[in-house]
Amino acid sequence: MNQAVHLTNLNGAELSALVESLGEPAYRGRQLFGALYRRRLRSFEEMTDLPKSFRAELAERATASTLTLESRYISEDGTRRYLMKTHDGLPVETVFIPEERRDTICFSSQSGCPLQCDFCLTAKLGLLRTLTAGEIVEQVVFALNDAYGVGIKTPRGTNLVAMGAGEPFLAFESLMRALRIMADPAGLYIVPNRVTVSTAGVVPRIRELAAVPDRPHLAISLAAPTDEQRDVLMPINKKWPLAELLAACKEFELSLKPGERFTFEYVMLDGVNDSDEHARALANLLNRHQLRAKVNLIPHNPADPLPYRPTPPAQVERFKNLLEAKGIQTHVRRPRGRDIYAACGQLAARRPVTNPQEQILHQLS
Ligand code: SF4
Repeated sequence: MNQAVHLTNLNGAELSALVESLGEPAYRGRQLFGALYRRRLRSFEEMTDLPKSFRAELAERATASTLTLESRYISEDGTRRYLMKTHDGLPVETVFIPEERRDTICFSSQSGCPLQCDFCLTAKLGLLRTLTAGEIVEQVVFALNDAYGVGIKTPRGTNLVAMGAGEPFLAFESLMRALRIMADPAGLYIVPNRVTVSTAGVVPRIRELAAVPDRPHLAISLAAPTDEQRDVLMPINKKWPLAELLAACKEFELSLKPGERFTFEYVMLDGVNDSDEHARALANLLNRHQLRAKVNLIPHNPADPLPYRPTPPAQVERFKNLLEAKGIQTHVRRPRGRDIYAACGQLAARRPVTNPQEQILHQLS
């Protein structure tokens, strides 16, 4: 176990306190914060504006980075997946998704996941460990550096989504701490309004988030319009069934401020949850609870040994039209990075069959 203080776990004030405890003036704390987040440096050797003696002392007590890159995969659509390892040897996956208007980084909150969603490859890993705030922040720093260059300002700004491996609401403290560290204007300056957290339905945390003033956007993964089916597809439903989940969603909706987003996600599994009846049942369910949230339809991302196939595009469109006819705003999410196991529900430390780009990148890393 690495006992050194992991600096990306600390907020600005804690970093300054650490620096002062080493007998250094407070401004060195701000300098160090800038080195970690504005210049996005991941080792003390690179922080050449700090005195050598201070860097040596820091190196004895602390570490600026703990994740190491194992492999990097680049999809034909430009999506990048990073497979990293924690200091204790567990897989962490992060995905960078280039988009026209604003790029998105999808980070993991846990290594593996304890929830057993039947359509998700990550579930096959089980829970290995919940990640620390520092490990969440580091994923974002790493992806930004890889996509734009070390310390280079992001050209279009960055959106974050907590939709990688793990259930973010089972990593609530790490998640909220990481979001506060990343929101600091003196550092990465990615504010909660740029972040969306997706949950499988941990009801108490939905209520808790409703009371947080400066919070990320919320997305709830539904996958089925009835308890009977959701119990099978997302077993968390046995603990918090639809009525309880949607009551908490209603409370959350009532707490929304202007401009805040709240969405439901619905993975579409061919011949399983994608019929016209399912569409009508879903619309009725949301309307019965008077929820006005938008629905994102996500055609399933297939991967062995998952027993599902994605719904064909024509039926996805039909499903969308049926929801819209019942007054529900609906959007179809385009799959990204399927060929490199980077798409939703595909993160399971997989290595795709040899990809020439990966070989080159291996040599670079
Ligand atoms: S879909 Fe999300 S919550 Fe469900 S098993 Fe996969 S990673 Fe966990």
